[in-house]
Amino acid sequence: MYTQPERSSKLPLTYLLKPGELVLKGGNRRSFERILKRNLTELLGNRGRAETAPGRYYVHCREEDAGAVEDALGRLFGISGWARAGTCGKTPEAVMALIAGEGRALAARGISSFKIEARRTDRSFPLDSYRICADGGNAVREAAGLVVNVKNPEAVIEVEIREKAYVYSMAKRGLRGLPVGAGGRGLLLLSGGIDSPVAGYMMASRGMGIDAVYFHAYPYTPEEARKKVTALAGIVGRYAMGIRLYTAGFTKVQMRIRERAPLPWTTVLLRMAMMEYAEKLAGKLKSRCLITGESLSQVASQTVENIRCIQERTRLPVFRPLIGMDKEEIIRTAVSIGAYETSILPFEDCCVLFSPPHPVLRGEPAEAVKLYEELDAGSLIDEALGEAVMEKCGFPG
Ligand code: ATP
Ligand code: MG
Repeated sequence: MYTQPERSSKLPLTYLLKPGELVLKGGNRRSFERILKRNLTELLGNRGRAETAPGRYYVHCREEDAGAVEDALGRLFGISGWARAGTCGKTPEAVMALIAGEGRALAARGISSFKIEARRTDRSFPLDSYRICADGGNAVREAAGLVVNVKNPEAVIEVEIREKAYVYSMAKRGLRGLPVGAGGRGLLLLSGGIDSPVAGYMMASRGMGIDAVYFHAYPYTPEEARKKVTALAGIVGRYAMGIRLYTAGFTKVQMRIRERAPLPWTTVLLRMAMMEYAEKLAGKLKSRCLITGESLSQVASQTVENIRCIQERTRLPVFRPLIGMDKEEIIRTAVSIGAYETSILPFEDCCVLFSPPHPVLRGEPAEAVKLYEELDAGSLIDEALGEAVMEKCGFPG
């Protein structure tokens, strides 16, 4: 099943990718590898060619596509690290020359200390890894004047003797996690806030494919709020291999809650209606779980008692990856994936406009269910399901 790296020799640049956690996955490993290769190929489009070899992936590309390739590698779940690598045939002379060249390149970047790490998977190569490090170290000292520092080097030159010889330094950290598609599908309740985009990103990092639903209450929430959610789905979608975003018109459901429910209960009941809708939509999409951005006690509707009330309306597992996270930690992730700036745009989502001044803090599930049934909102929810609009956000290409 492996393709030969030699075939891509016409493309001058090579990137070497180290798989992450998926190397540990025993029987599933082959299928995870296939999914990772498929994702990589899709993200690259015609900018580069992906190759698989035992224990490694490679990307070959042209110099002018290097920026696009590096951008794609920075969004790929399932790799622990990657680097642009020099390659050569498997003779000691060629390998030493390549190592010396890497040393000169580091010196040109102002680096003065280094060490070498070598892996020899091809045992027929005449130097063992100890000798590669010793001879390579001498070659770099002579060619570039760098000093060896084994404990605390500024740069590590890595040498791998595999199908070919590969030499690289300054490897970048990959996103880790598992390749998207290896972990089933989930339906994300995506609002325009900071939290739910991060929740979607975190589940995608475990290999989950993401669909999303946004509950819109036009004209109480402006068109800009919807556009903001579309933009956020696009941002998370770039990591999640694309997101299908469903916009649900929820104005009638919200008005029904306003008319019939005691004011302190409106937020909890609205969340219950969202759960009912999301479970039905998930059934159509073959999503196996729901995902929210809830974080324990962050707001009144996220106390453990109220979360329990909200849970009454669905039998699907609800994943809340932020439940134990601190807001600062959540914001840090939002910034790192490029969602934060969009999340803090001023347009309010429906829930803020409808939030009561004195919400229930510790709802009783039995009371929640009774109040919910009195809403008699089932047909309104079905109507909204029939009218849902789908957009594709953040798909590769
Ligand atoms: P976020 O920052 O994601 O908006 P939040 O801290 O503001 O979250 P809430 O507004 O209480 O919290 O919402 C809790 C969760 O319910 C959200 O993280 C999201 O998953 C879901 N949710 C809330 N409003 C909507 C909406 N209009 N459309 C879709 N999902 C929503
Ligand atoms: Mg919100």
